[in-house]
Amino acid sequence: MSALAGKVALVTGGSRGIGRGIALELGKRGAKVVVNYHASAEAANEVVSVIKQAGGEALAVQADVTRLEAAQSLIKATLDFGGRLDILVNNAGTTRDMLLAMMSESDWDVVIATNLKSAYNCSKAALKPMMRQKVGRIVNIASVSGLAGNGGQTNYSASKAGLIGFTKSLAKEVGGRNITVNAVAPGFVPTDLTASLSKNMLDEAIKMTPLGRLGTVEDVAYAVAFFASDEAAYITGQVLSVDGGLVMQ
Ligand code: NAP
Repeated sequence: MSALAGKVALVTGGSRGIGRGIALELGKRGAKVVVNYHASAEAANEVVSVIKQAGGEALAVQADVTRLEAAQSLIKATLDFGGRLDILVNNAGTTRDMLLAMMSESDWDVVIATNLKSAYNCSKAALKPMMRQKVGRIVNIASVSGLAGNGGQTNYSASKAGLIGFTKSLAKEVGGRNITVNAVAPGFVPTDLTASLSKNMLDEAIKMTPLGRLGTVEDVAYAVAFFASDEAAYITGQVLSVDGGLVMQ
């Protein structure tokens, strides 16, 4: 039997990039997957098709996870689809890179809302069904930027460092309910999010990475699938870097 058979997973921002890879991996392992998206309906439906073609079950659900009511509707749609919610992956994210001196207030606000407030919105709504079930897994997608900092990314680094603090605090709050909360901190992974980075910058990143390459969405998805598994039942409040050794804590 597949490791995640019978489990229901929700991946925010599952339409593209890392979220897409996570949705496919959880689907491959037998979970029913809700693929959340904001604007990319076609991409989300494609992810659903791939999961279904492989014999799995999946549903695409539109929701802007920066909005609490939208996150609540998203959790409700997940429960209507799967009857429960075992795995929440807070993956939706964005960047608005700029030196702080020139960063607009809206570039600050949108990054904090998308990367951090979304985790409050979705986790808060997910806790009720998880507490009722007496089991749950929350996996937050942080970043090495939240651990080590990165010039030009004060908004992004603050959101990801905040997400790490959120992970640890919530893990302490809900451990007694048999709900684990962990974070994965990827290094550089080629996706639409990193498409604007220059080749020079990526070459530099590879040079600084002991394993000598960029990450793949699968590298990240395997770590998420582990945190989501029964085998990770005694692990909570942890941050796992998936970055080829770029940032060693
Ligand atoms: P991406 O390719 O740009 O995909 C972003 C995803 O987030 C899309 O599915 C997008 O949905 C969704 N999204 C954005 N705003 C949303 C909102 N308000 N409501 C719902 N969904 C929203 O980015 P990625 O590289 O895969 O990044 C995924 C996560 O990994 C992010 O949290 C990012 O910070 C983190 N991360 C990435 C890297 C990297 O190198 N790529 C490194 C470290 C951490 P639509 O398709 O509908 O727009």
